[in-house]
Amino acid sequence: MIREVIVLAGGFGTRLASVVQDLPKPMAPVAGKPFLQYILDDLSEQGMQRCILAVGHLRQVIMRYFGDVYAGMELVYSEEEVPLGTGGGIRQAVGYLQGDEAFVINGDTFFGVDLRSLESFHHSHDGSLTLALKKMYRFDRYGTVETDDSGSITAFLEKQYREEGLINGGVYCLHRSVFTDDLPKVFSFEKEVLEVQFREGHLFGQESEAYFIDIGIPEDYERAQTEMLSRPAFDASWTLFLDRDGVLNTRIPGDYVRNPAQLDILSGVPESLAALSEIFGRVVVVTNQQGIGKGLYAEDDLALVHEKLMQSVRQAGGRIDAVFFCPHLSGDPMCDCRKPAPGMAMQAKKHFPEIDFSRSVMVGDAASDIRFGRDLGMYTVAIQDFPIILADESAPTLSAWATSLKQMKFL
Ligand SMILES: [Zn+2]
Repeated sequence: MIREVIVLAGGFGTRLASVVQDLPKPMAPVAGKPFLQYILDDLSEQGMQRCILAVGHLRQVIMRYFGDVYAGMELVYSEEEVPLGTGGGIRQAVGYLQGDEAFVINGDTFFGVDLRSLESFHHSHDGSLTLALKKMYRFDRYGTVETDDSGSITAFLEKQYREEGLINGGVYCLHRSVFTDDLPKVFSFEKEVLEVQFREGHLFGQESEAYFIDIGIPEDYERAQTEMLSRPAFDASWTLFLDRDGVLNTRIPGDYVRNPAQLDILSGVPESLAALSEIFGRVVVVTNQQGIGKGLYAEDDLALVHEKLMQSVRQAGGRIDAVFFCPHLSGDPMCDCRKPAPGMAMQAKKHFPEIDFSRSVMVGDAASDIRFGRDLGMYTVAIQDFPIILADESAPTLSAWATSLKQMKFL
C-alpha cells in the first residue's frame, strides 16, 4: 500500500499576485488557514505517513509553518535552489522516497480523490503513471483528455471552450521508473513524462467526482473561502473562551494594563461580543496577568480594569460572563493556571458545570492560547494577520471573525 506522497508546493502565485503577496501560492489563506493545510489534512486522513514537499520560492514560510511532522505525517522538504521545471522538481522529490511508488499532488489545486481507489486502478493496469481526472462542464481554461473504456488515455486536447470534458486534476499515482536517465536537469513533467508515457501507451486516467478547486484562478480562490470552511455549528451549548490582551484590548508592549485608564478596548470588540453572546451560551475571559506576580499592580486594580471592560460590552448589548486570571509569575512551581496550563479552564468549569470543552472555542493571539485550547480539545481561533499558528482558524481581529460567522449565517 502506498503511504508516501509528493506535494508540489513551489508555486509562484503569479495569477494570485493581487490577493496574495510574499507567500508561496499553496500558503494563500483560505477561510483562515493556508490552502496547503487542507491538502495535508486530507492526505493524513487518507492514511499517508510520509509527505515530500517540493518547495522553492519563499519556502521558509512553508517550512516554518508545518515543521517536520504534521497531522501524524513525517514531512520531508525537497528544496529547489533553482527552478527545475515541473519535471525536475518531481524527480528531485522522488529521490526522497523510501518506496518505488507514490502519489503526486499539485499544491495549488485541491482534488479530494479517493487515493486507495486511484491506487487499485493504477495497479490493475500495466501502466507506470495514472492521472485522476475531473469532469468539468462549460469551461475554457483547461485542456482535456480522452480515455477509452479501459481508462487508457487516448488523446490530449488543447484548451478551448467545451460543454463538458475530463481534465487532468493534478493528482497522480506513479512509479519512479517514469523518470528515465536521459532526462535533462530542468524539464517539464507534462512534455517529457506525461506525453512520453502517453505515446508509449502507459498512461491511464481514472475519473473522479470528488470536489475540485484551483486557487490559481482568482474566482476559484474567492469561492474556496466559503466552500472549504468546515466550521462547527455553534449554538448555546457552546462556550466562548477569550484571551484578553491583543484580542479584546491593545497589548502594551513590554508592560501591562495596570489601571482602567490604560485599557484601550479594540475597535468593534463590544459590538462583536454583543453578536457573539447571542450564539454562545457562555463568554469567558482567561488571561495571564503576571504583572500581579511582579507587584506592578494589585488584584483590586485588575478588578477595576475588568469592570470597565465588562461595562463597555454591556453597553453594546453583549456580555462577558466571567473573567479568570493567573496572577503568577512564569515558572512559578505553585501555578497550574498560566496558559497553556489548563487551570483557568478548570476554574471556569467549576463555576459553570455545563461547560463542555469539546464544545468550546478558544480565541487568542499567542501560541500559548492555541496550545491551551488544543490541549483541552477546544476549537481554536488565532487572532493575527497571517496564520502562523496551527489553529483551526485565524482572523486578523475578533471583529473580523465575528463578521465571518455572520457571513456564514451563524448570526
Ligand atoms: Zn497561575
